[in-house]
This record gives sequence, structure tokens and C-alpha cells, in this order.
Amino acid sequence: MITSRSSNSSSSSSSYNNMDLDLKTIHDYQENEKNVAMQLTWLGHAAILLQINSFTILFDPFLSNRASPFGFIGPYRCRERGFKSFSELPQIDFVVISHNHYDHLDKTTIKEIYAERKNSKHTKIICPLGLKKWFVRLDISKEQITECDWWDDIEVSKIEDDIKVDDSNALQEALSLANKKITISAVPCQHFSGRNIFDMGKSLWNGWVVKSQDASYYFAGDTGYRSIPDNCSEEDIEKYPFCPVFQQIGIIHGPFDLASIPIGPVMPVGMMSPIHASANDSVNIHIDCKSNHSVAIHWGTVENLGIDNIEYGPSELHTELKKKNISKEQFHEIIFLKCLVCHPYINQGHWLKNTFRNS
Ligand SMILES: [Zn+2]
Repeated sequence: MITSRSSNSSSSSSSYNNMDLDLKTIHDYQENEKNVAMQLTWLGHAAILLQINSFTILFDPFLSNRASPFGFIGPYRCRERGFKSFSELPQIDFVVISHNHYDHLDKTTIKEIYAERKNSKHTKIICPLGLKKWFVRLDISKEQITECDWWDDIEVSKIEDDIKVDDSNALQEALSLANKKITISAVPCQHFSGRNIFDMGKSLWNGWVVKSQDASYYFAGDTGYRSIPDNCSEEDIEKYPFCPVFQQIGIIHGPFDLASIPIGPVMPVGMMSPIHASANDSVNIHIDCKSNHSVAIHWGTVENLGIDNIEYGPSELHTELKKKNISKEQFHEIIFLKCLVCHPYINQGHWLKNTFRNS
């Protein structure tokens, strides 16, 4: 069962400013962990705080003002992030990055995370191939950074502090007994990379899968699904080939209890469709990856990324879901800065049913 702890679900843009992050629910997770399989909080655009099996993971934290090499021009966040300092958040175990575009990899936010004492020597970076040196240049130690190729898996366990890690027998025993364990897997998507004209395509772009014994989550990152030309009629869309990786991800890692799937920007269509998802594409990704419950990200936060209205997303999504006879409880807009709490169905070890409730 999935519920949202919130009383504020308005989607008008003015209501997003001056909202506070639900820090109480984020911190309560540590206490309620036994009854919560995972907890997801949308910090706007693609930034997601995921709490799963005692781990705190931050995806694509663009939490400063401007997604640009320049402070005065370029795409910018039009919604506040709802907290003042990383001292208010739990210690971050992993920062997981999908690719190096400015609206996903933000130097200001990364520096801010590492300036926080509890994170500086603790927080690990997991990033696509080719990005390690970018983090090393920020004085983050190499040991704290792991690069992944598509389909790589990383298994992480929490063990007691007093285990001697240089004693391989003791370490193996501790790892075999550990139940605070997750697997983080890099998966492909259809996108590109580059922060300037000299580094185009020189680092990889990924989606990510995170699994514990109780829950599975898919972060689709920034992706297209199908390239179509400008002025393509609705009837013609399906004549164009689609990216096959989402079905592969569904077969290899699915089904998922929860997925975050991007929507938009979509205009101009010929330019955006190879790299970003329309509402129609997002619903296809939801189906192909075998997600039981999806939430829309990458909309409603950053101005000037495309030429569409940044509110493109929710209502177009509902229209597409209707066409495919999928209930809107299975895929919907998530509430900004509020926690989506996923409860395990303990008796059968999986979900009773996927419901969403604004209470
Ligand atoms: Zn991008």
C-alpha cells in the first residue's frame, strides 16, 4: 500500500513557493522503518530523496537556483526547495547521479552537501562512467566515488562498527548476517551528456534501480522513448520505433513497486522527443518497465528548459492513462516536498495493492 502523508496537494505554481519540506516524516522514518518499506520525497525536477532499508539516497540534487554555467542566465528553479540547510536533513548515504546536465548535476548543491560535517567523509557518490574526475576536482575523495557502466550492480550492506574489515572471515560473516542491505543497479536510458561543447558524450547517462528485500524502486532519470518529427499526427506516433531498454529493464529488474518517470519538456517535438518523454512516452515507460506505481518527475520546477509551459505533465498524463485504461492511482503527479510512504504487505512479502491517497 502506498500513502502520502500530506494535506497540501494543490498543483498551482504559486502554492509551491514557501512550502516546507516534510522533515518530520523524513526523520520519523528512522523510527518507523519496520512499517515502511521505502519512503520517497520529491524535491522538485528530478531531485528525489529515497529512504529504503535504513539508507538515505539523494538522486540528481539540483537544489540551487540556476541550472547553468553562469549565475545570471539559463534555466532556473522557480520553486523553493523547502529547507534551509543540509543540517536539517538526515545524513546522506549516497548521492546518485543520472548524468552531467546542469539540471541534474549541480556543483553548488554537491558542495553544500559535502560542506555539511556529517556528510563530508560519509556520503558516497554513485555516478555514470566518466564522471568520477568531476567529483575529484571538488576535493571529494576517490574512495567515496563509484562509477557505473550500464547493467552494473553494487551491493551495499550496513555492518556493525566493531567488525574488523581487514579480517576477511569476520567481514564475510558480518556481510552474510547483515539485513540492512540494498542493491543499486545502473540501467540504460535514451539521453546524452555534456556540460559544454568539449565534453559532449564523454560521460555516460543512466537510470537507476534500487532494491531491498522488501521493496524495489526505479529512477528513470532523464530519458526519451521515441523520436518523432515535428507535426507528427497522433495516429502516426506508433509507426516510429521506440527505445527497447525499458522492456529490458522490466524483464531484468521488474516489476517495480515504485518508479519515478520523467515528463517533459516536449517542445519543439523534433528536438525534444529523442531525449525527453512526452506524457504518452511516460505511460509507455511505466508499462514497459513493469511498474506497479509511478510518479511523474522532471516537470513543474525548472523554467526555460524547453519552450513549453512547465506545468506540462499531470493533465496530459491523465489523458494518456485514460486512453490506455490505466487507473490514475497507478501513475500520478507526486506532491512537492511531501513524503510518499510505501508499506510492505508483510504476510506475503509483497504489496497488498498500490493505492495512493491524499489525506
Ligand atoms: Zn539531461
